[in-house]
Amino acid sequence: MITKNSIHTVNINSINSSGFGVCRIEGIVCFVQGGVTGDTIEIKIIKSKKNYNIGRIEKIITPSPKRKENDCPVFKKCGGCVYRHVKYEEEALFKENVVRDAFERIGHIENVNLKNIISAENTLRYRNKAQYPVKNENGRIRAGFFAARTHEIISCDDCLLQPEIFSSIVKEVCLFAEENNISVYDEKTNKGFLRHIYLRIAEMTGEIMLTLVATKNSLKNQEKFVEVLTGKFPEIKSIILNVNREKTNVILGDECINLFGRGYITDILCDTKIKISPLSFYQVNRIQAEKLYEKAREYMGDTKGKTVMDLYCGTGTIGLCTAKDAEKLIGVEIIEQAVEDAKVNAEINSRNNTEFICGDAEKAAVILKEKNVKPDVIIVDPPRKGLTPKLIETIDSFGAEKVVYVSCDPATLARDCEIFASYGFKIQEATPVDLFPRTAHVECITLLVR
Ligand code: SAH
Repeated sequence: MITKNSIHTVNINSINSSGFGVCRIEGIVCFVQGGVTGDTIEIKIIKSKKNYNIGRIEKIITPSPKRKENDCPVFKKCGGCVYRHVKYEEEALFKENVVRDAFERIGHIENVNLKNIISAENTLRYRNKAQYPVKNENGRIRAGFFAARTHEIISCDDCLLQPEIFSSIVKEVCLFAEENNISVYDEKTNKGFLRHIYLRIAEMTGEIMLTLVATKNSLKNQEKFVEVLTGKFPEIKSIILNVNREKTNVILGDECINLFGRGYITDILCDTKIKISPLSFYQVNRIQAEKLYEKAREYMGDTKGKTVMDLYCGTGTIGLCTAKDAEKLIGVEIIEQAVEDAKVNAEINSRNNTEFICGDAEKAAVILKEKNVKPDVIIVDPPRKGLTPKLIETIDSFGAEKVVYVSCDPATLARDCEIFASYGFKIQEATPVDLFPRTAHVECITLLVR
C-alpha cells in the first residue's frame, strides 16, 4: 500500500520536464524532487493521489553516476534551479529528451529530425537579468527569489546564475532602504513601497541598469540614492523607478520614471547593437542567444532580396541579427517600449528596410495579410503559451515556404507543430538550445517547411 508517510526503496529511472526524478511503486508513478536517473534511494511519500505520488528523499542508498554535489545553499527551496545536483552533460541530455518526448507524445510526431542539443560552456553566472522580490526579515531588508509554486520569498545573498556584481548592488540597495526607512511591499495587505529590485547588465559594454519596482512614483531621498549607488558602482548607467500599484504577481508596471541616466542600456549581440529598455524583452543568456540566432540564420537560409516577417520580435533582435541583407524586415511586438527600441535598433545598425508594428501578433498578421504582404520566411518566437490556431491559420495563408519557430516551451511547440502539420508543413529539423542551464527550461528552434 502506498500511503502518506510510508517509506519505500526505489530506483529512479527518468527525470521529468520539471526536473523531478521519476520511479514507479506498485505500478503507480512517483515523482521525487532531487532524484536522478540511476539512483537507488529511500523515499517517504509526502503526497498520495490516485494516479501519482510525490516522494521525498530520506536516504540515498546508491547514488547515480550522473550526480554531482549541489553547490547552492537554497537549492530546492528556491524556484529557480532544478539541476544543481546533476552533471551538466546529463542535464543537457535530459533536456534533449524532454524536447523529443514533447514532439512524440504531445505533437504525435514520430522520428522527428532532432539534432543534438546546443549545450552551454558556461553554466555559472550566465544570466544578464534578475528580478529580486524583497522582504522584511526581523527588521532587516532582504532580497531573494520566490519558492517554487508559492509566493514565499527565499532570501538569497548570492545567486550562482547571476553576475556577482548583482549581489553587491542588491545588498547596497537593501541597506539604503533600511537606513532610509523605505518600506517593503507586502503582497497580502497590498501595502508598502519597494516590491522588486530589477537588474540588467549589457555584458559587451558593461553597462548596468538598476530598476526599483515600487508602489509609488517617487522615491524617498532619491538624489542620495542615485549618488550612493552610482558612486559605489560606476557601471550603473541607468536608474529607473518603475511604478506598479496593482495587487498582482506581474512584476513590472507600465510607468517608468528616469532617476539617472538615459533610461536604457546598450548591448552587442551578433555584432549588432541592441538598445534595451526596462520593459523590453532581452535574451537572458547572451552567449547562448548568439548560438540560437546563428541557428535561426541557418534555418532561414539566404534572405537576400527576400521579405522576412518576425512575429513576437521584442526589440527586433532576431531579424536584425540574421536577415541583414533581406529586402524587407517586418517585426510585430505587443510591448510599446520594445517596439520603440526595435526602431532605434534598426537605425543604429543602419537598417532602413525595416518596419516594426506594435500590436498583438494574431491581429497584426491578419492586417498584414489584408495588405497583401508576402513574406518569404516567417520567424515566430512566442512566450510560453505558444501560438493560437488562428495565428497558425493566418501564417499558412501567407504562403511562405519556411517558418522558423523559436520556442521556450517544448509542450506548446509540439502542440503547434501538429497544427502546422495539418496545413501541410513538415518539420525539416529541430535543435534544442540550452539557454537556461541548471533550470528546468529549454529552448528549441524548429524549421518548418511547406
Ligand atoms: N524574439 C525576441 C523576443 C522573444 S520573447 C528575442 O529573441 O529577443 C517574446 C516576445 O513576445 C516578448 O517581447 C513579448 O513582449 C512579446 N509578446 C507577447 N505576447 C505577444 C502578442 N500577443 N503579440 C505580439 N507580441 C507578443
